[in-house]
Amino acid sequence: MGMATLGRRAVLAGLGGFGASGLAGCVTGPAARLGSVARPPPLPAIRAELDRITRVTVCLRPFRKAGPRLDVEAVGDKTVVHNYGHGGSGWSLSWGSAEIAVRKALAGGARDVAVIGCGALGLTTATVLRRAGANVTIYAADRLADTRSSRATGTWSPDSRIAAEGEVAAGFPELWEGMCRTSFRTFQDYVGLAGAPVEWSDRYSLSDGPPASRHDDSGGGAPRFVEYADRVRDIMPRQTPVAAADNPFPVANVRRGAALQFNVTEYAHVLMTDFLLAGGRIEVRKFNTPGELTALKEPVIVNCTGYGARALWKDESVIPVRGQIAWLIPQPELRYGLYYKHVSVLPRRDGIVFQQVGASDAYGYGDDREVPDLEEARTAVMTIAELYDRMARAT
Ligand SMILES: Cc1cc2nc3c(=O)[nH]c(=O)nc-3n(C[C@H](O)[C@H](O)[C@H](O)COP(=O)(O)OP(=O)(O)OC[C@H]3O[C@@H](n4cnc5c(N)ncnc54)[C@H](O)[C@@H]3O)c2cc1C
Repeated sequence: MGMATLGRRAVLAGLGGFGASGLAGCVTGPAARLGSVARPPPLPAIRAELDRITRVTVCLRPFRKAGPRLDVEAVGDKTVVHNYGHGGSGWSLSWGSAEIAVRKALAGGARDVAVIGCGALGLTTATVLRRAGANVTIYAADRLADTRSSRATGTWSPDSRIAAEGEVAAGFPELWEGMCRTSFRTFQDYVGLAGAPVEWSDRYSLSDGPPASRHDDSGGGAPRFVEYADRVRDIMPRQTPVAAADNPFPVANVRRGAALQFNVTEYAHVLMTDFLLAGGRIEVRKFNTPGELTALKEPVIVNCTGYGARALWKDESVIPVRGQIAWLIPQPELRYGLYYKHVSVLPRRDGIVFQQVGASDAYGYGDDREVPDLEEARTAVMTIAELYDRMARAT
């Protein structure tokens, strides 16, 4: 993307002030100025500068009111197990959802299994199948880097637009909880590996006034999304208020927690490499109708086509929820994300993710425009730039 379109050098002048103030790019709070023993460690500043944008990507969350499709269907002489429709939770729930799909795929004793798709669900399903001893070939229209999964934020968000209140089958909350716990457990195996495919990071929620719930209003034709976080409080660190003396930000209310972060470039690479090393195969292939699947040699197929299922399966229950990311040059020193004025920032190893997330999870609902909105990208970056500008002036 040409930076000229975004207004090159439209950097807030104040951002340059961190170094000049002798703080070497760090942000400190009142406690640090007091020089007390309780001084919080300084937070490195996020360089929210328009000319650090490397690309703007758009992705469509594959939302289904009833939750992910996990049923089994016969297509000709093939058994098709569906594993799609995970809304804004596809990475987070992938391992648990894969386990359910694999149990169904292997129930009839088949050892040769095809997986359609190499996004979050396809990769984890193929991995779990290999671990269970199946011979697995992934067939996918897109290269890994071109999948929608590669355009996700990369945070632990297991109940983000996963289903609509009043639309799920009896037992779905328990099914979700099982998927969530299995996934959470499995992700811990990837923490601490070279390249940090998965890691923990601190998260700050900032508000100038009283903190508002993001789930307060739906709107835009969106249903009320289910909220299941309370079911898994024991594995989700809570956000707690940051005391005024420890608050490094120039806003009234700050809460801090921690969450898993997926550095998707490295993580997906690890998954794919492990799958291939374990004898898995991958073939680039697009299917235009379910009938074309009958040409495959494998008797059992797991359908992990995500939003693509809407076209392939003519499944209009898959509703797009648009989300856009402006990627900025990585800053390896950043180990915290933040949310401020409807903008979320997550400093991943493969790029800093700036995202306009709107006032509620209804933002982007029903919107299938998969083209970048540069004004939206600019606004997201400038909102955070303004925060750090205020911070620089306050120190
Ligand atoms: C902006 C944004 C941010 C998000 N952030 C997060 C997050 O932080 N955490 C989280 O857990 N989730 C997040 N999500 C949700 C997550 O990205 C999705 O739930 C997930 O990517 C779905 O993965 P998938 O494997 O089902 O689909 P995809 O990634 O879309 O993969 C589908 C695969 O199927 C293949 N395929 C499709 N149709 C065909 C066909 N006809 N023939 C052959 N192959 C086909 C494709 O080539 C691809 O390989 C986010 C989504 C968006 C839009």
